[in-house]
Amino acid sequence: MIAPAPKPQSLADHIVQKLEMILPIKRPLPLHEPCLSGNEQKYTSECIETGWVSSVGKFVDRFENDLSAYTGAKKTVVTVNGTAALHVACHLIGAKAGDEILCPTITFAATANALSYTGATPHFVDCENETLGVDPQKLRAYLNDITTTKNNQLINKKTGNKIAALIVTHIFGNPAKIEELLNIANDFNIPLIEDAAEAMGTKYKEKHLGTFGTFGILSFNGNKIITTGGGGALLTNDENLGARAKHITTTAKKPHAWEYAHDEVGFNYRMPNVNAAMGCAQLEQLENFIANKHQLAASYEKAFVDLPDIQILREPPHTRANAWLNAIIVPAHEQQNILTATHAAGFLTRPLWQALHTLPHFKNAPRMDLSTAETMAQRIINLPSSVGLVS
Ligand SMILES: *Cc1c(COP(=O)(O)O)cnc(C)c1O
Repeated sequence: MIAPAPKPQSLADHIVQKLEMILPIKRPLPLHEPCLSGNEQKYTSECIETGWVSSVGKFVDRFENDLSAYTGAKKTVVTVNGTAALHVACHLIGAKAGDEILCPTITFAATANALSYTGATPHFVDCENETLGVDPQKLRAYLNDITTTKNNQLINKKTGNKIAALIVTHIFGNPAKIEELLNIANDFNIPLIEDAAEAMGTKYKEKHLGTFGTFGILSFNGNKIITTGGGGALLTNDENLGARAKHITTTAKKPHAWEYAHDEVGFNYRMPNVNAAMGCAQLEQLENFIANKHQLAASYEKAFVDLPDIQILREPPHTRANAWLNAIIVPAHEQQNILTATHAAGFLTRPLWQALHTLPHFKNAPRMDLSTAETMAQRIINLPSSVGLVS
């Protein structure tokens, strides 16, 4: 008896096979789950037993200090989430209605939402395909073309609006081309804000992401490399701005034993003590998480070498990345097939975010040519990346 010739396999089938080979048998297998196997229970129980669950407490102070020590930021202010931290950063650099803020179109919606809370408008800029970060060469040429300087302010010649800042996002924990982007911000005399929400633990040339710009932000949402349930942090090396950030995120209350004296319109963006307690426990494990994630990334790399149609998004040079979320680059016409096949097999893969300039509420926002972003949005797939998928 001769066995019937096997049906030629599609690229999607090959990918499912690879995932079945290297990942545990649990189905469905989420994209990213938290790992809470350290002192989370101990520290949060301490909050509950002592009643210190809310807006102040020793874990808030400890988490801020631990984060400053880990990242090297002079000042860290923890917040209810990363979006709130971004809002405060945009507020403190003075963004206001009528301003434009240069913002990647390839980023999570929160980046453009947060700047919009100040009344400013996102001005969308393109990415490059090595890191998915803002393309520095393209950005510099564009700014040379469309901007002028008036009264020490950068002005968009087409709209007449002030360009108040540049926000860049470090995608999946990999650094954008941060040195070049910082040079552009300096040359055009605008502050740089780093959305490092996904990059806790990533260092570029030994320097933690989020500490290059005027402000950097981190997120501790449940899907990030470490979580506080919900939470975020604002990082800065400017002591004055750091003090301003602490003040304005804590209702702008003047310190006093009993008086309710506030000296400006403040936000209630404080991270509760019970969340900070979780954060302290998670941070203790971060280096182990990163080591484990590098093993997973190596397994994916090995598994995919013999599929020439698939590239892996790699850690850029001079980087110790946190390896938070693995991504492959696939042919555009295969992206939907691969998503469908992997989901059918119980692997909860994801495409890249829809480019923000295509969302209805941003359809009138100013923008440059965004062709790389439009292509990459159709080519990226994220693979399951939780800590503990490899032993
Ligand atoms: C998660 C994330 C945010 C927002 O953080 P939250 O804590 O969820 O508000 C912002 N930007 C990027 C790139 C993110 O991945």
